[in-house]
Amino acid sequence: MNTTTPNDLLRRAVLQRLESLQRAGVTHLARPRRVPPIVDQPTVPEVSSPSESVTFDATLQELPPMTTPSSSDRPSRQAELNVIQQKVAACVRCAELAETRTQTVFGVGNPAARLVFLGEAPGADEDRQGIPFVGRAGQLLTKIIEACTLSRDDVYILNILKCRPPGNRNPLPQEAENCREYLDGQLAVIRPEFIVCLGAVAARNLLKTEASIGQMRGKFYRHNDIRVLCTYHPAYLLRNPAAKRDVWEDMQLLMREMGIPVKTSGKG
Ligand code: URA
Repeated sequence: MNTTTPNDLLRRAVLQRLESLQRAGVTHLARPRRVPPIVDQPTVPEVSSPSESVTFDATLQELPPMTTPSSSDRPSRQAELNVIQQKVAACVRCAELAETRTQTVFGVGNPAARLVFLGEAPGADEDRQGIPFVGRAGQLLTKIIEACTLSRDDVYILNILKCRPPGNRNPLPQEAENCREYLDGQLAVIRPEFIVCLGAVAARNLLKTEASIGQMRGKFYRHNDIRVLCTYHPAYLLRNPAAKRDVWEDMQLLMREMGIPVKTSGKG
């Protein structure tokens, strides 16, 4: 007599899925998405507890759902981003920027990324290449991403402005306003769980605040249902290397919240 119950079938299916993930090299699963805390509520955990990540040792009841968007979703999201990108490329809302740019700089990375890095505006290198964060500050950002055991292809990188302001001046409020529809469109397609604002221009524009990065860093904010962490801009780190320690602390906080194991040895 067959005594297999629906629970047995479920258990078997879950175990098969876990085994196939393990064979594919997956060693950790992210914790289930938590309800984001109230804006401005600090959630700083102990800096060196690596126990936040969930491993295959978890019991069946404790298994979290997969929170990484399926890879089959990527082509359709990329197609949606391409539509916005074409609008951006033809945009002349900011007459001065449209006149002085070499090209627009839309964004780069995984269209289904869990994590987005948001900068200010393209600089000279980005304007030339059409890709965000490729100059010296960009190379430092790449190192920061890699220190989080991620790659630029895992995340999505974009800016408040899609055009380079002449002489790298700060974006004007009207320019940020003109470009906001494109940023909102990108975020609506990517649907990230986390945004890291790089520097005060990104943080202030996204979160509509006047606070400084020093005040905002080290805790999570909320933009719609996305959790937002603010930290120093890599260009600031090039001028003030001592602040790298703070950024690494912020990245460790982010990794814990994302369920990414943090190795504390050898770093700040
Ligand atoms: N700084 C930014 O804020 N964005 C870039 O793309 C490059 C430098």
